[in-house]
Amino acid sequence: MKTTLSERLLSLIFPHKCFLCRSESVPADVWLCDRCLSELPLTSGALCRRCGKAPEDCVCKEDSPGFDGAAVPLFYTDAVARGIGSFKYQGKRYYAPFLAELMAQSVRETYGDMQFSAITYVPLHPAKLRRRGYCQTRLLADELSALLGIPVESGFLRHTGKGGAQMEQKGPEARKENARLSFAIRKDTKLQGRIFLLVDDVLTTGATAGRCAGLMRQKGAQAVYLAAAATTCYRHRIQ
Ligand SMILES: [Zn+2]
Ligand SMILES: [Zn+2]
Repeated sequence: MKTTLSERLLSLIFPHKCFLCRSESVPADVWLCDRCLSELPLTSGALCRRCGKAPEDCVCKEDSPGFDGAAVPLFYTDAVARGIGSFKYQGKRYYAPFLAELMAQSVRETYGDMQFSAITYVPLHPAKLRRRGYCQTRLLADELSALLGIPVESGFLRHTGKGGAQMEQKGPEARKENARLSFAIRKDTKLQGRIFLLVDDVLTTGATAGRCAGLMRQKGAQAVYLAAAATTCYRHRIQ
């Protein structure tokens, strides 16, 4: 579903739905109703700074996550999953500035004054892009770029259109193999010595971000740090 310019303008004027309960309407520049304000499941510095997982889910001892660090503001609870679902699948593009604001804060807290060369994002399956009319990770990257003053560079990572939906893969090995099939990098890409902030929406096993970071390293990137909106957590039962 494509959002037209007039729809976008209307969404700026008229109330939004609360990101968490989605039953309460809130003013256009607010994202949570009074009842949900204190319910936002912030990670608040509790994650492993390398893999972006809660301490009990950290996998760094067994396996390197494939990226150099992760900054993630939210746990992927049921309510957050529904909010991100409506952002991704139901045309609720107006959640992009809200999520990006939380991500920018998390990036500043996690990475301090790290000098990023550029922001890039995990590309969307081409058929999904045609169907939805927008790429949610690109929306987040554009908002983050404005908030952090770092340019967006894209077009070198591409979705091959192969592989199945990452969410439907069972277990870390299947997800790694699916990520390998799904993502590629353009041959003439030159990223020598550059430090990137890679944007994704949800961090699950890290297979997607790890694959994209690995491809960027092959083309000379010095480091690739992840910024995602939410991270799955065993405690919250969404895997
Ligand atoms: Zn609410
Ligand atoms: Zn870890």
